[in-house]
Amino acid sequence: MATAEQKATEQKQEQNGDVDAAAETTEGLAIDAPASSYSLELSQDQRDIQDWAHGFAEQVVRPAAHEWDEKEEFPWPIVQEAARIGLYGFEAIAQFWADPSGLTFPIVNEELFWGDAGIGMSIFGTTLAVAGIYGSGTPDQLVEWVPQCFGTEDDVKVGAFCASEPDAGSDVSGYRTTAKYDEGKDEWVISGQKAWATNGGIANVHVVIASIDRELGSRGHAAFVIPPGTKGLEQGSKVKKHGIRASHTADVHLDDCRVPGSCLLGGKEKLDERLAKAREGASAKGQDAMRTFELSRPTVGAQAVGIARAAYEYALDYAREREAFGRKIIENQAIAFALADMKTEIDATRLLVHRAAWMGKAGKDFKAAEGSMSKLKAGEVAVWVTERAIQILGGNGYSREFPVERMHRDAKIWTIFEGTSEIQRLVISRAISGVQIK
Ligand SMILES: Cc1cc2nc3c(=O)[nH]c(=O)nc-3n(C[C@H](O)[C@H](O)[C@H](O)COP(=O)(O)OP(=O)(O)OC[C@H]3O[C@@H](n4cnc5c(N)ncnc54)[C@H](O)[C@@H]3O)c2cc1C
Repeated sequence: MATAEQKATEQKQEQNGDVDAAAETTEGLAIDAPASSYSLELSQDQRDIQDWAHGFAEQVVRPAAHEWDEKEEFPWPIVQEAARIGLYGFEAIAQFWADPSGLTFPIVNEELFWGDAGIGMSIFGTTLAVAGIYGSGTPDQLVEWVPQCFGTEDDVKVGAFCASEPDAGSDVSGYRTTAKYDEGKDEWVISGQKAWATNGGIANVHVVIASIDRELGSRGHAAFVIPPGTKGLEQGSKVKKHGIRASHTADVHLDDCRVPGSCLLGGKEKLDERLAKAREGASAKGQDAMRTFELSRPTVGAQAVGIARAAYEYALDYAREREAFGRKIIENQAIAFALADMKTEIDATRLLVHRAAWMGKAGKDFKAAEGSMSKLKAGEVAVWVTERAIQILGGNGYSREFPVERMHRDAKIWTIFEGTSEIQRLVISRAISGVQIK
């Protein structure tokens, strides 16, 4: 039943002719909800989860960041602690995803990566494997494999998503890892080398993209789960990195690695149908693949927003305290305006991230590749803001004793992985122009 206040508002809108105008506006924007429901306010639930994630980032992650960055080791105790409080695990991810607005997972990511990006990636790198299973697997495969990616509170595990190869990163059609079906044994035999895999070799579950028919390029690919302890899968060299050094990145070698037929994500029937269509030259279901990327990119963008915000806040506090020429450095427009620009860019980026996350959850078409836009902007802003933060801290900004140096090193990877900035621009420009830009 409408309250007196609602009735009064409706009456007023009718008098002003606003009801029709509002309906027209919402129709134009293809938004189903009534115009009056539009709000940028987070719900109480979202704020509670945000506070909880922030508390963990502030009290557990940030104090440990320097140590694990210097050690360049995977921070198992911190991941265990995240599992203990319910931030890491199957149930946690399911709960974050359940939010109908789509915002909770980006919000949690922003807070965690505000704490530290290397540790953040160690905690949420597993979600890359989960996204791979979710994107291609059947409901039964989801139930079987996703919990095994996380392990349990007492026996924490991680997952890895292995797509990139030494000679093919952006150009996914160039993957050389192959999967051949052994009909007699109902097994797949996978061979090849994967590069740059986050959690590669230390994961319980590896999700591997392999080519079934190389002539079909990316349309001849399939995703496989490699169960724990499978013979033939070995970690190659661990990568020594510029940033996110707590996160484990390594090559993965697959040498005649045999997995049961059931490890093909989506199942053989669906694969055979898809390959037959591709061989007949039927138009590719490019929208499906693109949609999967558009769905995951806002979350990646939110991580970069977290790094940028951390550096901005540190620089703001520093500028308020640091004195030069007998005054606080923030009293100089050069510094204050830089901070104003940093804050503006961060807030604008978050809006792009939240828009794309909401679009994904609401099932909207990413007509202008809005997911890619959010990731592109977030990566570039994180690099720019963290560089500005170093400048504001002067010599201290360049020292490892202050965190903005680490944040700047960490930020750079957000313009490279999950699709480089150039690839995001390619996707956006193709989406807005309809032209096959090269
Ligand atoms: C720390 C880290 C973690 C990673 N984690 C994972 C992971 O978990 N799983 C995984 O599968 N991969 C992972 N990657 C790999 C990452 O996704 C690739 O490095 C990335 O996709 C770029 O591929 P590439 O390195 O082969 O560069 P290339 O594809 O060789 O690109 C080199 C340069 O050329 C540009 N370029 C290429 N093609 C075009 C074009 N058509 N138009 C314009 N410019 C172009 C690129 O933008 C880039 O600047 C990770 C990488 C790093 C460094």
